Amino acid sequence: MSESFHEQLVEQRRYLHQFPEVGWTEFETTWYIVQKLQSWGFNVHIGREVIDEKSIRGRNLELVNEARSRAAAHGVPEAFLQKTEGLTGCLAEMDFEKKGPVLVFRFDIDALPVQETDSVDHLPNREGFRSKREGIMHACGHDCHTSIGLTVARWIAEHKDELSGKIKIIFQPAEEGSRGARTVAASGIIDDADFFFASHIGMQAKYGEVIIDPYGFLCGSKYDVTFIGRSAHLGADPHKGRNAMAAACSATLQLLGIARHGDGMTRVNVGTFHAGRARNAIPDRATIEVDIRGETMAINDYMCEEAQNIFAGCAKSYSVGLEVIDQGTVCDLVNDRESVDVLRRCAQKIPAIKTIIEKSDFGGSEDAAILARHVQSKGGLAAFFVVGADHLVGHHQPEFDVNEEALDVGFEMYVNLVKEICATSLA
Ligand SMILES: [Zn+2]
Repeated sequence: MSESFHEQLVEQRRYLHQFPEVGWTEFETTWYIVQKLQSWGFNVHIGREVIDEKSIRGRNLELVNEARSRAAAHGVPEAFLQKTEGLTGCLAEMDFEKKGPVLVFRFDIDALPVQETDSVDHLPNREGFRSKREGIMHACGHDCHTSIGLTVARWIAEHKDELSGKIKIIFQPAEEGSRGARTVAASGIIDDADFFFASHIGMQAKYGEVIIDPYGFLCGSKYDVTFIGRSAHLGADPHKGRNAMAAACSATLQLLGIARHGDGMTRVNVGTFHAGRARNAIPDRATIEVDIRGETMAINDYMCEEAQNIFAGCAKSYSVGLEVIDQGTVCDLVNDRESVDVLRRCAQKIPAIKTIIEKSDFGGSEDAAILARHVQSKGGLAAFFVVGADHLVGHHQPEFDVNEEALDVGFEMYVNLVKEICATSLA
C-alpha cells in the first residue's frame, strides 16, 4: 500500500483520538469529516437528509447544545453548525459515470464517557495524542473506523474514473447505545443499497485475523425507568411519603434475578441508579437505566416482558408512580452468503491477513445490525466483519488501544470491496 495512505490513516486516527465526542454531540468530528470529503469531490449530505428526527432516542439536548457551543468556540463555522440542524454525522455520495450497483459502507464516529488512563505504557500517552477532553475517550476504536472511512473515501476519489455505479459512505453518529442507526435507516437515504458493509476493529480477533461471518449479535433493549413517589419528613410524617428509592432498589434486585432462558444467552444490567434529595426526606424520585440483551429476538422479548412486569410490580407494591422510557431495541445480524464470499475474496488478497476466520461469536450488540436488516428488507445484500487489532484490554476500558497496523488492514478490506463490486477496469 502506498505510504501516503498509511500516514493518512494514522494521522487522522490520532487527531480524532484527541477530540472525542459522545453520541449526538459529534459536531467537531462531523465538520472534520465533511471538509475532507468535500475537498475530494464528494456530494455530502448532513442534517435531516441523513437523520430522521422522529426516530431519535437517547439524545440529551443539553449535551447537544453544550457541544455545539464548544464546537463554535473551537472554530467550527456557524453556517455549518446551522446546516447540521443540530444533527451530527453525514453521508458522502459519489456517482460514477458508468451505471452499476449502489455500494454502501458504514463507519461509526462517536466516543464514550470514559476517562483515559494516565499510564505511560498507553500509546496515546507515549506519542502525545491522548484525549484532550476530561472524561471522554475513543475507547471503542471508532476513531480508527472514522479514519479508515475517510481514507477509503480518498482512494475512491482518486480512482473514480475506474469505477461504476454509486458509493455511499455513512459516518454514523451515536453508535454506542444503539441510537444512531435507526435514524439513518428511517431517513430513507440508503433505501437504494444493493450492497452494505460495516465492520469493527478489535473485538475477538488478533492482528492478522479477519472474521468474515461473525454470529451471536445480541439483540438488546434499553429502558430509563423512573419511580415517582412522594416526599415527606422522615420524623413527622413518614406514613405520608411514598418511597421511590425502595421501589427502584427492589426492581434492581429483581431484574438481576430474572430466570435465564433455556434456548440461549441473556444479559441484564442496571447501569445507573439515581435517587433521593435529602437525608431526612422520603425519596420521591428514583431513576434506573436498564440494559437487556438476548441471543435472539424471541429471547430478548422474553427478558423485556419479565422486566416490564418487575417495573410495574415494584411500582404497585410501593404505591409509587411509574414512567418507562423505551430507549430503543437493536436486532441481530445475519450476513448474506454472497457477501461473505466477497469478503473472503477481499481478505485473501491482503498479505497482512494470515488467518481468515469464518465463524466467530460476536457476543455483543452492534448498531449496524439495524442498517444491515434495513438493506436486506429492501432486497439488498449485507455483511459485517471484524478486523483484528491486538487490543490489550477489552473495549470501553480506560486502557483500550489498538495496533495501528490494523488500520491498513481495514482500509485494504474496503478498497478490495470497492474493486470487487464497483470496478470496471481495475485489475
Ligand atoms: Zn464500538
